[in-house]
Amino acid sequence: ATPLAVAAGIQRAAESGVVVASETIFEVLPDVDVVALDKTGTLTSGEMTVTGVDADDGEHLLARAAALERYSNHPVADAVVAFAAGEGLRPAPENPATDGGGPAEATGRNREADDWDDPASSVEGRPTGVVGTVDGEETVVGNRDLFESEGLAVPERFEERADTIAGDGGVPVLVGWNGRCRGVLAVTDRPRDDWDETVTALADDGRSVVVLTGDDGAAADRFRDHPAVDEVFAGVPPDGKVATVQRLRAQGTVAMVGDGDNDAPALAAADVGVAIAGSGGLAAEAADAVVTDGRLDAVPVLFDVATATRRRVR
Ligand code: ADP
Ligand code: MG
Repeated sequence: ATPLAVAAGIQRAAESGVVVASETIFEVLPDVDVVALDKTGTLTSGEMTVTGVDADDGEHLLARAAALERYSNHPVADAVVAFAAGEGLRPAPENPATDGGGPAEATGRNREADDWDDPASSVEGRPTGVVGTVDGEETVVGNRDLFESEGLAVPERFEERADTIAGDGGVPVLVGWNGRCRGVLAVTDRPRDDWDETVTALADDGRSVVVLTGDDGAAADRFRDHPAVDEVFAGVPPDGKVATVQRLRAQGTVAMVGDGDNDAPALAAADVGVAIAGSGGLAAEAADAVVTDGRLDAVPVLFDVATATRRRVR
């Protein structure tokens, strides 16, 4: 091996905003057959915003949702918390957990202490949302899968609303307590400006492009419809992403590109993992290369750099 060529490759990657964590990328990336991209936060900006609230008491619903979401570091959670704060909402003060096993120990990031008494306790992060106790009532915030598995009924009105939001390319976030969904938040997510040219460049390079997403159905349609995208695997939970990557590896060499903490296992399971630096730190830790400035088009550049580098090394 010629370390100089590798050093030059690392330098070239850095110039396009990619930190190389493992030199094996120069060896493996040129041979990649399948590039699997996560959707939320990877193909999309991950900077989500709440654009609508449908509930009998929207303010109460939002405050309740935010009380749980402050313990999650998912992009959806950040959107809900920011929106509630922007509306000046503070969850109604009640007795927070006093058993020491409450929110401070909850999964996810414990946001800085605020000036209100935390109404949430026993908060538990899930791949598709958050569950916990708010003001003494079992509360669930998340997608329809979560409501089904938690056994909360979703009235027709909110089912239809969720369909409309998803059909418009948004993420419907259901909020419920006491056995029933009581409202839906519309959260929108914007595809990154460079997603189109990125998947096109990868496909033109002869690689198969697939999309993995935890979202169910319609939100992934615009990616499914793109000629460069071979397949979209929707409704895939994090452990499902690992299983999908493993299945794809039976067909060839696989690179996984993801941003979230929940993508970390799939990044590790792929032949090469590339992280888009984002909300959580776990993806970057699991990855062989990290895109630091959120430019997705650095990914095809990284493939070119790796190919050129390997040619010089050999
Ligand atoms: P992707 O695989 O596209 O990156 P995720 O697996 O991160 O998506 O999330 C899948 C879906 O689960 C989200 O679109 C959202 O509906 C739901 N979800 C995940 N985390 C949360 C949360 N903290 N609050 C509400 N919904 C969530
Ligand atoms: Mg993601």
